[in-house]
Amino acid sequence: MEKWDVVVVGGGPGGSYAAKTAAERGLNVVFLERGRKPGEKNASGCGLGQRWWRDFPEIMEELPSLPSYRKVEMVVINLVDENNRLRMRSGTTGSDLCATRWKKGMEGASVYRSELDPFMANLAIKAGAEMRTSTLANDVIMENGRVAGVTTDNGHTLKADVVIAADGAMSTMARKSGMRNRWGSGCTLVPQLDFSCNEERLDDVIGNAEWCWFGPFYGAYQVNFRDGFHLGAGQWLRKDWDMKPLDMLKRVMEVPAFQSMMRVLEAKPREYQAHLLPWMESPPKTYTGGMMLVGDAAGFPCPLEGEGIWHACISGRIAAETAADLLSSGDVSEKSLQEYERRWKSSRLGLEHQFGKEFVDLWDSSIFNPEMMKKQIQILLEFSMLHPFSVVFDWGDAHIEAFNQHLEHFLDLLPEFEDFGRNYIAPLGEGIWPENQRRILLLLREKMPVLKYMPEKSFLRLAKLIYPKLKAKI
Ligand SMILES: Cc1cc2nc3c(=O)[nH]c(=O)nc-3n(C[C@H](O)[C@H](O)[C@H](O)COP(=O)(O)OP(=O)(O)OC[C@H]3O[C@@H](n4cnc5c(N)ncnc54)[C@H](O)[C@@H]3O)c2cc1C
Repeated sequence: MEKWDVVVVGGGPGGSYAAKTAAERGLNVVFLERGRKPGEKNASGCGLGQRWWRDFPEIMEELPSLPSYRKVEMVVINLVDENNRLRMRSGTTGSDLCATRWKKGMEGASVYRSELDPFMANLAIKAGAEMRTSTLANDVIMENGRVAGVTTDNGHTLKADVVIAADGAMSTMARKSGMRNRWGSGCTLVPQLDFSCNEERLDDVIGNAEWCWFGPFYGAYQVNFRDGFHLGAGQWLRKDWDMKPLDMLKRVMEVPAFQSMMRVLEAKPREYQAHLLPWMESPPKTYTGGMMLVGDAAGFPCPLEGEGIWHACISGRIAAETAADLLSSGDVSEKSLQEYERRWKSSRLGLEHQFGKEFVDLWDSSIFNPEMMKKQIQILLEFSMLHPFSVVFDWGDAHIEAFNQHLEHFLDLLPEFEDFGRNYIAPLGEGIWPENQRRILLLLREKMPVLKYMPEKSFLRLAKLIYPKLKAKI
């Protein structure tokens, strides 16, 4: 029997980052990976966004050395209508705010997990953690009602003061310790197809961008690598699930614009996979006596678009720091490990989940709802057509007539959108910072002749009477 300060279960991004941090804090740490090497299953994308530069610059600096690396500088959204026609392709490189808010502007990265995971595991090893591959943790050791280590399928018993469970969506550790059984409805199935393609054409046609395909299907993303790309889609696993996962992708691949892109890029399907991804309104309890859950095991992926690698690394770091701080006082009881939840909730990870329910509802009623998307595509198209330049370049009729026709169509569509707006957009209004609420209200007052001359204070008081939840300061 062995004895460690910390045993980390899982050699994915969350596990490796937890092991690295624990080792840097001087703890005696081992991390276990069931695969023959970390990232053995090419489990996901992955696209890494701008916040990586703030929180993990040491990783971002090194990624260009990985063979599959592609820089990301914009997100391109393809809007497809119910007749499979591509109706709008728009790329965002970010406003000046994005350019100055982040040291590197909109810069992110795409790299295969089969390269990212070993790279991150090496960081942990360099920091002093021991890695054991081909080692499946199959149970927890319970002592006095708390987790005191793990057992492995090759017959070893590893005792530990603290176990950090980074064993992914299906977390054996969470189940064996009795923390939870299943996810319930808060879990998605994400099928994805990897394509090889002509690298030069990918450079010329797509460049440094991630793509999304939004239309009357299960909203799809396209992560682009050096010489290939992933097409993925997803949907919540519900009791009435009756889809073949591959069909979700086939539906997108039928779109002529997707097919022409494949032809131009000389794309060939290379590997198909389907994985579970927790997509929760709010993560359930993330600690028990002697153990903390991180990453997918804890249900941390972003509630709006399912990104989860940053969340795994941040939670891995917080868990390892909490372990180091508590072990110095020798108390890792359940009560004392509440500190972990307090810390992640008050971090940027907690902020990400503050409007979890609202974001999940919004996604559930748009991107994951093909019927709803048919209507929303129309309203999005009209909304963009009302832009003065679009009206000028609409060659349908006299421009003033074209403008009015668009306006009329937009107004016709609005009633259909009303419920959606009330149910899924309005709740996010509560998240608007009070100062921004105040500025929006004053802007509205400026535009309404009747209210224009009302003193600011009285106007804001009136607004608060009508909408008591208003947080704008008077
Ligand atoms: C198709 C798809 C695409 C995605 N795309 C992106 C993206 O582009 N960007 C992004 O940020 N996120 C993306 N995500 C989400 C992201 O993959 C996860 O949130 C992230 O991998 C979570 O990291 P983790 O370390 O918690 O778990 P995992 O990455 O799942 O790692 C868990 C590790 O533990 C090992 N393991 C499991 N059980 C045991 C055990 N009992 N004993 C020993 N080892 C064990 C596994 O082999 C694995 O290596 C995507 C997810 C999917 C499914």
